Formats: sequence, structure tokens, C-alpha cells
Amino acid sequence: MRSIQHRIGGVPAGGSAAAPVHDPATGQQTAEVVLGRRAEVDAAAGAAARAFASWREVSLTRRARIMFALRDLLERHEDELARLITAEHGKILDDARGEIVRGREVVEFACGIPQMLKGEYSDQVSSGVDAFSFREPLGVCAGIVPFNFPVMVPLWMHPIAIACGNAFVLKPSERVPSASNLVADLYAEAGLPDGVFNVLHGDAETAAALITHPDVAAVSFVGSTPVARHVHEAASTAGKRVQALGGAKNHAVVLPDADLDLAADQITAAAYGSAGQRCMAISVAVAVGGAADPLLDRLAARARAITVGPGADPSSEMGPLISAAARERVGGHVEDAARAGAKLVVDGRGRPGPGFFLGPCLLDGVTTGMPAYREEIFGPVLVVLRAETLDEAIALVNANPYGNGTAIFTASGAAARRFQRSVHVGMIGVNVPVPVPMAFYSFGGWKASLFGDTHVHGAEGVRFYTRAKAVTSRWPEPAGAAGAGAEAPSMAFPTAR
Ligand code: NAD
Repeated sequence: MRSIQHRIGGVPAGGSAAAPVHDPATGQQTAEVVLGRRAEVDAAAGAAARAFASWREVSLTRRARIMFALRDLLERHEDELARLITAEHGKILDDARGEIVRGREVVEFACGIPQMLKGEYSDQVSSGVDAFSFREPLGVCAGIVPFNFPVMVPLWMHPIAIACGNAFVLKPSERVPSASNLVADLYAEAGLPDGVFNVLHGDAETAAALITHPDVAAVSFVGSTPVARHVHEAASTAGKRVQALGGAKNHAVVLPDADLDLAADQITAAAYGSAGQRCMAISVAVAVGGAADPLLDRLAARARAITVGPGADPSSEMGPLISAAARERVGGHVEDAARAGAKLVVDGRGRPGPGFFLGPCLLDGVTTGMPAYREEIFGPVLVVLRAETLDEAIALVNANPYGNGTAIFTASGAAARRFQRSVHVGMIGVNVPVPVPMAFYSFGGWKASLFGDTHVHGAEGVRFYTRAKAVTSRWPEPAGAAGAGAEAPSMAFPTAR
């Protein structure tokens, strides 16, 4: 059985524990991945700490050039990376390529790091005194990431952390480990010194040791809400800087004046793309007033028409779920909702054959008390709720504990503006169902979708991976030179003169 190893200090490293890796399209085990235990966590954090000492001295220009080289290598290896993603995650190849492109855009942003790290300077804040500030790297930064974007979510973090002068330890999801090792190879080829980017494979135990490790200064986490909340608390208690992004329940509100064909096309793609395993998936459609029945007809027709199959098959539009347990859990939600009185308009369960497949499911008449509405299902299930007015729909969005993304479909700019100003959600789409911000903006939700202060990438990413230093300096003229003259000493608190 192929063994997927850590990459610590530029070399492969084994370990004492391992977990199976599956191809979700066949259900078969294809490899095993080593799981970092205390010794490997120490080794990874230690390698990063040693590399940081010299990496932080490397010029901004050279750091940026390595990012330019990485960007080109990611483009050149796009197909290889996409195949690794599909083989372990199950998503269709075009979807895998899409996540690589969106991740690469963060590297493009990191190529401009010299511009982002320009400090501030004030001449003559007092007589003969100047003041300036700049931002320095933190040290060793850790990234703990989910299974659903094996390349893009890590790329939200490490290019910016590394371009800012930090060293990085990435703990990928144990279910999709291979792509991260290829990214480590590409960093090495781009000229990044050994130890600046390390891949530490592992599970919850590995992550727990990493987030509290004395060599780690900051933790970026992306995953489910219960784990995000726990990681935020544990890392904060250990004195780390931490940002922890959690789960989601994203609503698409459809007003009666919307182009219903466009809304149905877009919501279908956003609900069932990647088998619903996206934190920005639309999992709730809120049909307002007269939009409900015509929207439901359109959604049902489109859901039934989706071709489900292996992600590597070019005719597939939707692949399998990540595991047999996920298929069981998602199917259980559908069953429970139907039992509780929801109408199962499209039932994608019971698909024969090997692999962890579950077809698109569409539920109407779901109420806010049902677990299918309250909980993040993270599968190809769209629930439809009805509201009489836009205000009622906004209240529904705001009563939900999550606040990652939301979208409105309408022909009214005034309605869209009211929506975008009223919802308690971090990322909003207007006639755009998956409003993932571009790399030069920041990504992040509100409420139970993010614990911490800063979103990822963009300017907030740079802020997260650096800390400010402010210098007040005086360079007196030598005695006897023009303008020289000692200032009278004073015991009073210094003020500007
Ligand atoms: P998960 O929370 O099970 O695991 C995420 C990571 O945390 C993995 O690397 C895992 O090994 C590790 N982990 C698991 N238990 C841990 C623990 N007790 N302590 C420390 N680390 C632990 O999530 P998942 O199933 O891999 O991914 C799906 C979830 O991620 C969904 O909830 C989805 O909404 C969320 N997600 C959120 C965003 C976002 O930007 N908000 C993006 C992608 C995915």
C-alpha cells in the first residue's frame, strides 16, 4: 500500500501511526497517510522555527520572486494537482481546476507583497525626531484545513504567511493528503529554502499538539463549527494568534421580480456543485411571495437532470461524497425531514454501485425547527422555505446561527441594497450564488462561521500574519555641527516640541 509521508525540513518523514485514504468514486482504499504524533509535531515545528531565523532576513524582492515562480509552477502542474484532488476528494476535474485557479490567485496577490508591506513614515514628529512603523512576521504559523478544498483553502494561508516572512506548518485533512505534498515539491522547485513550508499529516490529535506547540505563534483553521470553536479557544488559551473559520448554512433569497431561470440555474450549481461539500454552497432557497411555485418547478427539473458519476469522467457534473459515513449522515437528514413532514421533491438516495454516491435531493415545506434546516448537512441537499416578504426573508437569514455567505436574486437594486445592508453575513452575492471574494479582498463569515477577528487573504491576511512595530528615532547632529545642541533633560513624560 502506498504510504503518504510528511514533508519536514524539505525531506519525507514517516511516522508511527497511519490512516487509510480512499477513492470516493470506488470506495476503495488507495493509500495510507502517516499521522503526526508528538515527535513529528516537534520535528515540523522545530524545522520551521530554524528556517524562520534565516527566511525572515530574505529580501522582500526575493520572497516575491519565489511567489512568481510558484504561481507559474501551479499553472504548469494544474492538471496533475486536479487529478490528485479528484482521486481523493471525488469532485469533478473542472471543479478541482477551479479551486486551483482561485488558490493561485492568492499567490498572485502574494507576488505583490512588497507593496502590501510598505510602512508609514512621519518626518519631524518632534524637533529632530522622526517616527515610522512597519510590520514584521510572527514566526511559525500553522494551518489546519478541511477536506473539501485540498488546494485552495491551504493557498488562502501559506503564500501570504510565507511572503510576509513567516515559516509555515500545514496540517492537511487526513482524507485528502496528496495534493499538499505536490505543493511542497513546487515550493522547493520555486526556490523556497527547506523548512519554510512543511507538511505535517495527521488527525485531531496531531492538530491538538500543533496548535499549542511552543514554537507556533499563530494558527489559521478552516473546518466545521464545533472544531473551529474549540481550536479558537485552545489556541487563544495557549497564547496564540488565531483565526478559525467554521461551517455554514447559506441562504439564497429569490424575489418574485428575479429572472427565475437564471436563479434556478445558479442555485442548482451552487447547491449541488462538489456534491454540496462547499462552505459557500447554497443549502437553503428562500422563495419570496409568488416566486415559490415556479422556482420549485425549475429547481426540481434541474436537480433531476444532473449527471452523477466519478469525478474523473468528463461527462459527470457531480461526484460522490467524501465517505460512506457522510453518505449515511446526509441520507439520514433527508429521511428525518421527510418523516417530519417535508416534501421530498427529488430523492437522490439509493444510487446503486460502488463509491460514496448520493444524488441531488430537493426538499420543500421545510420548517426552521427541522434539523435539515438548523444543521449544516454538507451534502447535495437543497431545502426550500417560503417567505411572504423580503423583510421576512432577511429575518430568516439573520436568525440562523451561521453567517458565512448569502445571495439575493432580484431585478431591484433597491431590494438588493436593503438586503446587503441588513443581513448579518460576511459574504453577499447579488444575482451571484457563490460570492467567494477575489484574493485581493478578504474571505470570512460572521457569527458561528468565524471565530477570531480577521478574515483570510487580502489585506486582512497580511495583517494576521504580521505584527506592527513603531519606531521613534532621533539622530542628533554631532557636537559642534550646525544645528547641534543638547536638549535640556526633563523628568516629565515626553511630549512633542
Ligand atoms: P473538520 O472540522 O472535521 O476538520 C477540519 C480539520 O480539523 C481537519 O484537518 C481535521 O483533521 C482537523 N480536526 C478534526 N477534529 C479536530 C479537533 N478536535 N481538534 C483539532 N483539529 C481537528 O471539517 P471537515 O469535515 O474536514 O470539512 C468540512 C467543514 O469545513 C464544513 O463544516 C465546512 O463548512 C467547513 N469549511 C469552512 C470553510 C470556511 O471558509 N468557513 C471553508 C471550507 C470548509
